[in-house]
Amino acid sequence: MLTSYLPFTLLVPSNFLLAALVLTVVVAARYFLMVGLAWLALYRSTPGSWKSRQIYQHLPPRSIQLFEIRTSLISSIIFGFSGVLIGLFWELGWARLYLDFEAFGWTYLFVSFFILAAVHEIYFYFTHRMLHEPWAYRRFHAVHHKSLEPSPWASFSFHPVEALIQAAFLPLIVLAVPVHPVVLIAYLTVMTISAIINHLGFEVLPRSAFGMYLQRWIITGTHHSDHHRFFKSNFGLYVTFLDRLLKTERERKGRA
Ligand SMILES: [Zn+2]
Ligand SMILES: [Zn+2]
Repeated sequence: MLTSYLPFTLLVPSNFLLAALVLTVVVAARYFLMVGLAWLALYRSTPGSWKSRQIYQHLPPRSIQLFEIRTSLISSIIFGFSGVLIGLFWELGWARLYLDFEAFGWTYLFVSFFILAAVHEIYFYFTHRMLHEPWAYRRFHAVHHKSLEPSPWASFSFHPVEALIQAAFLPLIVLAVPVHPVVLIAYLTVMTISAIINHLGFEVLPRSAFGMYLQRWIITGTHHSDHHRFFKSNFGLYVTFLDRLLKTERERKGRA
């Protein structure tokens, strides 16, 4: 039986709510810090060398950017609750979180990160495709597609139902896969950076032949901005594997 090392019980509703409030503030602060830095760096003083990397020239109007921030803050509450749910599962002995680095070996520690990413890729691809079914799109996913050319603030901009679907992944996966909290935190950080890169409006991969090759397999701004503009293709999260396998990849003649 795995032991919880939480300093207080989450089974008391007031503790659960307080922890959710603290985590929500952390998630929202991280969102403002990371997106804010990217936004300031690229849209307030675009370095000359980055001009040619811009995928679309204009950010959506201020009112849409404020909409993206508002919906992202609502998503932060849902993400905060899902984090506390992981803690509750840990306390109940359901989550397969472990603290001893040696428990599964150092190789597994490294591999477990990629297990999370691979399962998440599959989960995201199919739930995202489902959200593009007309009945679900209208109700739940149109929020994320509010702008054909989103700003980086859209990184967390989801309808609460979509945010719930996305937030459910980590509490579910820790029930099945042993994960060290360090890996969980590293994965959350990569998840956030990837979401920001995909909505940056700039291509971060180089223009060299190698960069172009990477763009065929790794999802960055160019790939995901095509999803926002053309809807029926490019559903993936980190890599284009499932889009290619299931013929939903939008082929481009030239890339940014
Ligand atoms: Zn979509
Ligand atoms: Zn998007």
